[in-house]
Amino acid sequence: MSRDIREITRAYATNIKYHSRLWVREMGNIIFPRICAGCGEYDTSLCAKCRHIMKGNWREVHSDLEYMQFFYTYEFYRKKNEPISDETYVQFPIYALGTYEEERKNIILAWKHHIDEQLTSFLYVLIAQQGVLLGKHYREHWGKCCDIVPAPSHPKRKREDLFIAGHIAKALAYGMQQSGIKARVCDVLERSHSLRVKTAHERYKKQQGITLKNEEMLKNPILLVDDVVTTGSTLAGCARALGENHRAVLACALAATPQKSRKDERHAEVEKKKK
Ligand SMILES: [Zn+2]
Repeated sequence: MSRDIREITRAYATNIKYHSRLWVREMGNIIFPRICAGCGEYDTSLCAKCRHIMKGNWREVHSDLEYMQFFYTYEFYRKKNEPISDETYVQFPIYALGTYEEERKNIILAWKHHIDEQLTSFLYVLIAQQGVLLGKHYREHWGKCCDIVPAPSHPKRKREDLFIAGHIAKALAYGMQQSGIKARVCDVLERSHSLRVKTAHERYKKQQGITLKNEEMLKNPILLVDDVVTTGSTLAGCARALGENHRAVLACALAATPQKSRKDERHAEVEKKKK
């Protein structure tokens, strides 16, 4: 009984916060002019230059991601009768539209932290356009049907309409449908608890917190979607949560962290441990 009251109070409090934020934003539009999320130019949520940058191009990023690399087993080499090597393989290919830096980074951060319908609307179009291309590629390899699964977010973000992976999934589904794919969004992954992660090891631990719900919704090959890929640990966690019965064949994101900064981060961790 008391738990119910607590939940209602919490929901109510969140609601007040959400609506007051909306109000501040609306007032903000009157007092302050809009600025471009990428470069800060006045009078638009996304200027022409940043729109072009944000559109980007799909490129493979999985070979850079440490948590996506798997080593072949002894049985594999024995069966194939091949010499043992340090070659690795990936669970599924991962594509990103660009590097997580400069304007692209600003835009994604702005999108993640503020509700801006104009920005969302611009980004929907850009992502849907890329969805058309992705759809063509998908069709060649995996057929006409696709279940798009967004990487999970904290429930609070969903309530506040800041569930970016969900937005990306919707826009991609729309684009893929244009290229003749029966694409639909299946929001079946849940993040059970929020962990503030800083190091790669903590990021690895994060994947334990992802669970699968409404499993019966999934019927087709799966496209996993996230906003930014860093080490691939979230996507690996998603794939693990999907389990043996539901195979992710492909994953994509708006941006991938530049490889250099990942190396720096790892280096910093090692240095920290030495001290
Ligand atoms: Zn701009």
